[in-house]
Amino acid sequence: MELSERQEKMIEIVKQNEPITSEQIAHQLKLSRATIRPDLSILTMAGYLEARPRVGYFFTGKTGSELLAKRLMKYKIKEFQSVPVVVKESASVYDAISMMFLNDVGTLFVINNEKCLSGVLSRKDLLRASIGNHDLNDLPVHIIMTRMPNISVCRPDDLLIDGAQTLADKQIDGLPVVKDTPVGLHVIGRITKTTITRVFAELILNEHV
Ligand code: ADP
Repeated sequence: MELSERQEKMIEIVKQNEPITSEQIAHQLKLSRATIRPDLSILTMAGYLEARPRVGYFFTGKTGSELLAKRLMKYKIKEFQSVPVVVKESASVYDAISMMFLNDVGTLFVINNEKCLSGVLSRKDLLRASIGNHDLNDLPVHIIMTRMPNISVCRPDDLLIDGAQTLADKQIDGLPVVKDTPVGLHVIGRITKTTITRVFAELILNEHV
């Protein structure tokens, strides 16, 4: 969040004089209380200042990046997951490529007869299969997919930042969001590098995410 010159000044005044009432802050700035009220609300909501009733304002001592990190640490996977695109193990590589284009995604999740996660297909997996001499209609995706148990997954209540860390550590583009069932993992969503990039940009630009 970009602070205005007046807001920066207000933080300085509080830092030097805490606890300080809004009236005293307004007095120091030679402004009315009504004029500075919106700024005080913003600074309090953003976590720079703390208001204690009948005492006054305190400086929380937190920097912009600390506050940003604090907000980020609250985000859960379930708030940001998008719809997964799945294919059956028996689907052909040709069908998988069509699915990828039709749904405008870069990662497909493969499911078995029990509708549980059994594999992942990336763009490069499909490209690799395509440059061989195979007939892509006759090549089922289960032959070329990355298979369980080597698949990184996340769950709805996990922190988004942990998902982001897995994507970075494993150098992959997407994670299936899964639900545990007695027969295996059901795919209920996906988190991708695009999701993380969007949250990152909106957080910095201070949009609502
Ligand atoms: P690309 O291969 O198009 O660059 P990725 O970086 O996502 O895309 O995939 C790299 C490899 O990792 C591929 O072989 C893919 O099957 C595999 N992969 C992708 N997502 C996952 C995942 N969530 N868990 C395990 N492996 C994955």
